[in-house]
Amino acid sequence: MDFNLTKEQTMIRKMVRDFAEEVIKPRTIEIDTEAKFPLDIFEQMGELGLLGIPFPEEYGGSGGDTLSYAIAVEEIGRVCGSTGLSYAAAVSLGASPIYYFGTEEQKQKYLTPLAEGKALGSFGLTEPNAGSDAGGTKTTAVEDGDDFIINGEKCFITNASFAKTLIVTAVTGKNEKGRNIISAIIVPTDTEGVTITSNYDKMGVRGSDTAEIVLDNVRVPKSNLLGDPQKGFSQFLYTLDGGRISIAALGLGIAQASLDKALQYAKERKQFGKSISNFQAIQFKLADIAMEVELSRNMVYKAAWLKDNNQPFTKESAYAKLFATETAFRAANQAIQIHGGYGYMREYEVERYLRDAKLLEIGEGTSEVQRLVIARQLGC
Ligand SMILES: Cc1cc2nc3c(=O)[nH]c(=O)nc-3n(C[C@H](O)[C@H](O)[C@H](O)COP(=O)(O)OP(=O)(O)OC[C@H]3O[C@@H](n4cnc5c(N)ncnc54)[C@H](O)[C@@H]3O)c2cc1C
Repeated sequence: MDFNLTKEQTMIRKMVRDFAEEVIKPRTIEIDTEAKFPLDIFEQMGELGLLGIPFPEEYGGSGGDTLSYAIAVEEIGRVCGSTGLSYAAAVSLGASPIYYFGTEEQKQKYLTPLAEGKALGSFGLTEPNAGSDAGGTKTTAVEDGDDFIINGEKCFITNASFAKTLIVTAVTGKNEKGRNIISAIIVPTDTEGVTITSNYDKMGVRGSDTAEIVLDNVRVPKSNLLGDPQKGFSQFLYTLDGGRISIAALGLGIAQASLDKALQYAKERKQFGKSISNFQAIQFKLADIAMEVELSRNMVYKAAWLKDNNQPFTKESAYAKLFATETAFRAANQAIQIHGGYGYMREYEVERYLRDAKLLEIGEGTSEVQRLVIARQLGC
């Protein structure tokens, strides 16, 4: 087995790390405290080609692979969870479904501006009464001539206030077993009847935009239907499988940042006449975090590799998402502990890692849902 990154993947890591350190890092505290979406940073990320890493050049992308994209999310997550979450959602949820399932015309029209970083996309699956149970979707899309008329409500949608396009899931009919057929439809945000509000006051990832969407008699052409209408549910499960790799990568980034800060602080802080890194209780915490970061990285990269090599990756992306995000939370918690009282203060940043990491155990399938996915893959 070859665990080395390719030349291209190594270059992407360096480029994104430099950008994250120079451009994002000086802004991370402000992004969190002011809960302000850093649109200008996304414009720069677009210019660098980061929003198009996993898409072919013919659609405005950079022609990279999933692993390169995961590395980019990891590096951004290392400095800013908010920017990392909005980046992962824009690529994995806002743009990827169009690449996976879109017609040539949809790709040219809707994917290209997203991949070029000239616009942001959003994915609206969650509803007030349909979260983990996405099959309980109440939003409807009723055919009317050449159009669909969509009515419903979506909640907790990342980037929606800044998005040019939404992909919304809606019930379009019933199958032969009488079950709802859920399809995905592209809705430009400037369509009449679309109302997007962003009033959530969040615990973490505060600079990532999270919005509610109301769809009131929204008329879009039937040609905006994404993929096979009969396979809408399995299509968004595939989308989520891919998205989980990026949320796992974000967890990995936060876990790595927690380790870096805790190690540095443990070497500097002196108590009882020596650095606290000399105490075995502190060493064991650092050793555990370091081991879990390494395991998370192996899991994230393996899931990405499987996807890039057209092999099944549902189970491995759930493993990676579950383990890396829970590692991020544990690592941030221990980083606070190692900082003592200072860790509880905002300026030391490790408390932000904990608040940001918590979201990763909830979004794109909670930890419980990941365990369900894994159990199903085991044949339960
Ligand atoms: C900041 C943020 C950003 C988000 N971004 C997006 C986005 O861009 N697009 C989008 O569509 N959604 C988004 N979401 C929604 C997110 O995916 C959901 O919150 C998540 O799927 C959980 O759904 P829920 O909140 O309704 O919780 P519920 O489904 O009500 O779950 C409540 C609890 O019950 C548990 N539970 C539920 N069912 C089971 C079961 N069968 N077995 C065991 N335990 C179970 C859950 O694990 C959880 O602990 C976002 C959420 C947040 C907070």
